[in-house]
Amino acid sequence: MLEWQRKGVSDFSEMTNLSLDLREQLSDTFKRCGLAVVKELDSQDRDSIKFLYELHDRQRIETVLMRYRFGISCCISSEAGCLMGCAFCASSLAGYGRKLTSGEMFAQVAQSARLVNQRIRNVTIMGTGEPLNNLEALIDFLKRLHDPEFGLGMSYRNMTVSTCGLIDKMLVLAAEVLPITLSISLHAPNQELREQLMPIARLYHFDDLLAAAQEWTLRTGRRVTFEYALFRNVNDSREQARELASKLRGCNCHVNLIPANPVPGLGFEPSSKEKVNSFQEELSKHGINATLRRSLGLDVNAACGQLRRQLPDDKAEGL
Ligand code: SF4
Repeated sequence: MLEWQRKGVSDFSEMTNLSLDLREQLSDTFKRCGLAVVKELDSQDRDSIKFLYELHDRQRIETVLMRYRFGISCCISSEAGCLMGCAFCASSLAGYGRKLTSGEMFAQVAQSARLVNQRIRNVTIMGTGEPLNNLEALIDFLKRLHDPEFGLGMSYRNMTVSTCGLIDKMLVLAAEVLPITLSISLHAPNQELREQLMPIARLYHFDDLLAAAQEWTLRTGRRVTFEYALFRNVNDSREQARELASKLRGCNCHVNLIPANPVPGLGFEPSSKEKVNSFQEELSKHGINATLRRSLGLDVNAACGQLRRQLPDDKAEGL
């Protein structure tokens, strides 16, 4: 692992193991690649911290650290904004900037770890952006995270890539045979509702997506996770749970139920605790393995894109 990555520094002036002369020469010759902190928000229970970072071209991105029993998980953004336009998500609302480089994805992990002075155990690419819309940089980033010499030496099994279901790109990623977890955002038990919630479903049919998930497992030997955010009176009834269970029967998968983080103004509300529990019960009753993800960071606007949208112009520190 390189010294600057181990120490998490991104500014030549901080590389005090180099001579002053060399540090000055490097500063004069190269552009700094670190992320400037615009805002840091800590949840009241200290279980999650959200950073709003600014990139060299003033694009803004969000990164979230979450504390779990097994260690700290870092959720990064793969794009500044998102083109996918899911109806419940804030990421598309503040406009689209650009795809991030693999270095900018890596910097989110290294810099966030440095800011809290802790080791990151897991990385999820589930923040703003559709990671498979930025596939080349994504693959480079995953390999860099894994690399013990030039990266963090992180196990692929501790990396999760989320997608809204770009089937062709899923199969390109499968060809890399990296033992990562693929997490497919489903959020509906059928094509009709999925089209209403996620415009991408008009391009990739529900049934084809489930078939591609099976193909992923065949090619990589890894089961997929389906993400299902529960919205009150939209997709959270027992009937819908039964329909989902019937669609997933025979699929080697896991369902991750998410009590939705509400985004003001979008018209979606989180399901009640009772509804969430009964949805999970119904899936389990029909043999579908489902767990409930802990909802962290309600008081730090943890749903992706919210902070970027709220603070488009605040001054960044360190620019
Ligand atoms: S849910 Fe994901 S894919 Fe959909 S708009 Fe938000 S960031 Fe993009």
